[in-house]
Amino acid sequence: RRYDRQAGRPRPHPVVGVERVRRQRHQLRHGDAGPADPRVLDAMLKVPRHKFVEEALAGKSYQDAPLPIGEKQTISQPYMVAVMSEALMLDGSETVLEVGTGSGYQAAVLALLADRVFSLERIPSLARRARKVLDDNGFSKVNIRLADGTVGWQDMAPFDGIIVTAGAPKVPQEYLDQLSLGGRLIIPVGDRESQVLMRITRVGEAEYKEEKMLGCRFVPLIGNQGWKQEN
Ligand code: SAM
Repeated sequence: RRYDRQAGRPRPHPVVGVERVRRQRHQLRHGDAGPADPRVLDAMLKVPRHKFVEEALAGKSYQDAPLPIGEKQTISQPYMVAVMSEALMLDGSETVLEVGTGSGYQAAVLALLADRVFSLERIPSLARRARKVLDDNGFSKVNIRLADGTVGWQDMAPFDGIIVTAGAPKVPQEYLDQLSLGGRLIIPVGDRESQVLMRITRVGEAEYKEEKMLGCRFVPLIGNQGWKQEN
């Protein structure tokens, strides 16, 4: 890799995480994650992930790994962002809700894949920082709200996609109710330490199709319909 003299470190390789996504897509062990979606790869190549982490971690930001973003939270592994984004099967016309804004990175990727993007975060400092980095990098169209996302965002529903980026103990009924007909919910469900990534599609007024996608490890979804706050 070339050395960036000004920054005093090797240049990050912008495609490492995405290349691994390409190679590892076949590792989805269960269900049908949908066809390889070039729009997702394109979007991820366009969003500068290093801007969404602290400067000290920028050099690591193109590795395929989660990174700390403060408040005991993380920016998700690029591979997981790709899998989840792809599982939403977006064509650009959709209204999407993200639960767990965190750094704002996933929301920026969604902004390139969907028409309208709403994102909920419960920690004020993270919501503030995400707002700034999204505005500074041309993603002002993302709407962020500071709130308990375990009950969704009723005023903006229905959603063609809901993506939950924290691990839930169960699927909140509110998410199912707020999906449009044909809408997809992508959510990690399990215990506090490990979960199974699920895709739930609303196939009728009160009919849902469930697909198990792969094992994963997310920070807990904390709130009314999620885990209790840990002290
Ligand atoms: N999508 C984020 C990104 O791209 O950086 C990563 C999200 S991080 C793995 C999980 C986030 O979910 C944390 O920022 C956490 O504060 C948030 N979270 C947990 N419970 C929540 C809730 N009930 N409502 C909204 N956000 C929540």
